Amino acid sequence: MVNFQLDEMQEMLRELAHEFAVDEIRPNAEHWDLNSEYPKDVINAAHEMGLLNLHISEDYGGPGLGSMEEVLVNEELAWGDPGFATAAYATSLACAPLITGATHEQKDKYLRMVAEDGALASYAVTEPGAGSDVAACKTVAVRDGDDYIINGSKMWITGAGKADWFFVLAKTDPNAGYKGMSGFIVDSNSPGLSLGKKENNMGQRCSDTRSITFDDMRVPAENLCGGSESGGWMNAMKAFDMSRPNIAAHATGLSRAAYEHALQYSGERQTFGKPLHRHQAIQFMLADMKTKIEASRMLTWKSAADSDAGISNTESAAHAKRFAADTAMEVSTDAVQVFGGYGYSEEYPVARLMRGAKVMQIYEGSSQVQRMIIGREITKDL
Ligand SMILES: Cc1cc2nc3c(=O)[nH]c(=O)nc-3n(C[C@H](O)[C@H](O)[C@H](O)COP(=O)(O)OP(=O)(O)OC[C@H]3O[C@@H](n4cnc5c(N)ncnc54)[C@H](O)[C@@H]3O)c2cc1C
Repeated sequence: MVNFQLDEMQEMLRELAHEFAVDEIRPNAEHWDLNSEYPKDVINAAHEMGLLNLHISEDYGGPGLGSMEEVLVNEELAWGDPGFATAAYATSLACAPLITGATHEQKDKYLRMVAEDGALASYAVTEPGAGSDVAACKTVAVRDGDDYIINGSKMWITGAGKADWFFVLAKTDPNAGYKGMSGFIVDSNSPGLSLGKKENNMGQRCSDTRSITFDDMRVPAENLCGGSESGGWMNAMKAFDMSRPNIAAHATGLSRAAYEHALQYSGERQTFGKPLHRHQAIQFMLADMKTKIEASRMLTWKSAADSDAGISNTESAAHAKRFAADTAMEVSTDAVQVFGGYGYSEEYPVARLMRGAKVMQIYEGSSQVQRMIIGREITKDL
């Protein structure tokens, strides 16, 4: 049976996240963006409210909720502010490869730290010369007794300046392609680890994005994550099946916020003797925005439901992420159009939303990469 109705617990969780967005996120969003201020206190408050890292199991101190509950919450947080949603979600992304590939001891230490103490973490895979093409990564890890010694650098790492630990992908066998890539859990105070300056990004400016350099950094061999040295890449990629429904939910929340602002404004602004939304060209624009938002949400829910049902969601998560991210860019751009000249000014939130949408087509696998994944999935049995 297909049922699009949420159960009572899901409705309550969504309502809780919405109220949190109204009370704690929206009033601060403009200030955070203008000042590039990391929303640490509000991330802590969201943690205390039980709105973050919902996928950590009860065995490790988390609530053990499903992907569906996570996307409901994430749509609301991004409706509040997409920069906040990204900053707050970085830890969940870092936790994903631990959930799928860490030992009990690793989970008990690092996932518990997140669930119980509100520790923050970052997922560090991209490098200056390797983004979409992860296998081109140059960071190397060499075994030395009970340690690995890691040298290299990472780029564009969300939350890097605030993280207590990192999930890092490095090559233990540079000649073995994907199979030579290994995952490591790295404490942020490891000697040899240094951070770059906070990037001056176009949008989502409250989120902390930095480079990281590893200079003869020692990591205990027991922090190898992913089952074996050769298991790192596959495990790191599996994380995206868990995270992409949430990025799609962020994009849906952003689109919804932009649409709601545009709808309201279209009733307030009069041109040629009637409200903007009485002009059919504007009404059709609003209608298209709404259709695309509904479709984004349905794809997002489908990918989350697949995951919760134990069905491979690689393809459905790619559909959701690609469509919702492209929709966020289109809808926020159209929202600026509905506002006319006022939309182009930072006086109104739609300009910030449009700037914030762009990165959704780039990170967590760009829109082109999602199409590559979908293409691979639909042709693999031919
Ligand atoms: C704000 C921000 C936060 C980020 N946070 C993180 C993080 O926390 N952790 C992390 O590891 N990474 C993070 N990233 C990195 C992000 O995942 C990469 O930027 C992304 O994967 C694209 O890689 P790239 O920038 O190297 O672009 P490239 O890989 O150089 O691609 C450039 C362009 O070419 C396109 N392209 C590339 N190859 C193909 C192809 N084969 N066919 C068609 N088109 C192609 C891409 O879609 C893109 O449009 C973040 C990036 C940003 C901007």
